[in-house]
Amino acid sequence: MKRQKRFILQENEIPTQWYNIQAEMPHKPQPLLNPQTREPLTAADLAHIFPTACAEQELDTTHPWIDIPEPVLEKYKYYRSTPLVRAYALEEALETPAHIYFKNESVNPLGSHKINSALPQCYYAKMEGTTNVTTETGAGQWGAALSYAAKVFGIEAAVYQVKISMQQKPYRSLMMRTFGAAVTGSPSMSTRAGKDIITQNPTHSGSLGTAISEAIELATTTPNCKYTLGSVLTHVSIHQSIIGLEAEKQMAMTGEYPDTIIACFGGGSNFGGIAFPFMRHIFSGKRHIEFIAAEPDSCPKLTRGEFRYDFGDEAGYTPLLPMYSLGHHFKPANIHAGGLRYHGAGTVVSQLLKDGYMRGVDIPQLESFQAGVIFARTEGIIPAPESSHAIAATIREALRCKETGEEKVILFNLSGHGLIDMTAYDQYLNGDLQNYSLSDEDIRKNLDED
Ligand SMILES: *Cc1c(COP(=O)(O)O)cnc(C)c1O
Repeated sequence: MKRQKRFILQENEIPTQWYNIQAEMPHKPQPLLNPQTREPLTAADLAHIFPTACAEQELDTTHPWIDIPEPVLEKYKYYRSTPLVRAYALEEALETPAHIYFKNESVNPLGSHKINSALPQCYYAKMEGTTNVTTETGAGQWGAALSYAAKVFGIEAAVYQVKISMQQKPYRSLMMRTFGAAVTGSPSMSTRAGKDIITQNPTHSGSLGTAISEAIELATTTPNCKYTLGSVLTHVSIHQSIIGLEAEKQMAMTGEYPDTIIACFGGGSNFGGIAFPFMRHIFSGKRHIEFIAAEPDSCPKLTRGEFRYDFGDEAGYTPLLPMYSLGHHFKPANIHAGGLRYHGAGTVVSQLLKDGYMRGVDIPQLESFQAGVIFARTEGIIPAPESSHAIAATIREALRCKETGEEKVILFNLSGHGLIDMTAYDQYLNGDLQNYSLSDEDIRKNLDED
């Protein structure tokens, strides 16, 4: 039997607008607050740190569709559409009646979905006359994407990379430097925030929280410099909606419709990217879809965090965000899925979780690698350790279908490849990796500290 495996769009079928879920969700997220006054932030407040267009998108609760600027669309067309793939080999290995599809965001040369937001952020910065951008990066996918996007639009990039990730994944800092960025391990002695963190804890191995503090400090103390963020904030998931909008057209080509949509979860950008364009059909009552965000059990903000106002960074430089959080001083275990080591969830996802439109699942590190290896051996793609969390959640669902005989259609997002994470696979295959589950006490301690 001849079966079609890959579905791709023609250049003229690539969506020309992004989707902004904030305009259509039943309960809008609560406002971001100024930590000093506790007053809601305005776009003008945010524009001190972010490019103005991004600041406006962040707070836009009225426009569901936002035009993708022509130069950004032009750059998208170098690597989009990304393929939607039916994972027949994985289905057969699992002996599941479920139909498994994945959206392959690993096929651009940067290796992850992050480039979808790096391009517009650098484009908007350039249009406003900014000459420099700063950012933080964990495993380095965002840093690599930003470094390239900055070069594309002719601006300079300075990246703070989480120290432990820089040691675990030296190739990503080399990629960033190859694209022309300046890379510093965080916490560093180059900022006030970094010095304070190191003084308190000289062996601090860094977290996204420490790196964000340092990048924001550099942006606010350097003229003509803006800060960019690869996840968590709403404008990032607006840019990432290109994933789900393409997937919607591609699912139509398959003649099927997803019952379940799954993505891994760090701050929510690839989850929001694939999920939000489909979720609008849930709000309108047209469809029923189950949405699952897969987080590491060592950093379980969705399932075990608390909904509260919290800072997005370690030092407390960001606005107060209404979100599910483990507390901004939470120090995640050194798991290899560096992009999932973040204490909070984006404000939109937090509201949607609170309202019951989605759920989180916790995946232990060893289960994620086991899933990654099954996927590699069937589909021939070595997934990023982050993406393996989505695969593990997909396998759980597919095995449940095997028990019940349900022919569910499952769609997951393959957020990136793991070819630069091979030391992690080396350690897994040698039996040197472990799980890090947290006691209620561990979680309570951090929440109470804040
Ligand atoms: C950054 C990253 C993630 C986690 O970030 P989200 O904003 O939650 O998507 C997941 N997968 C890959 C490959 C990443 O680079």
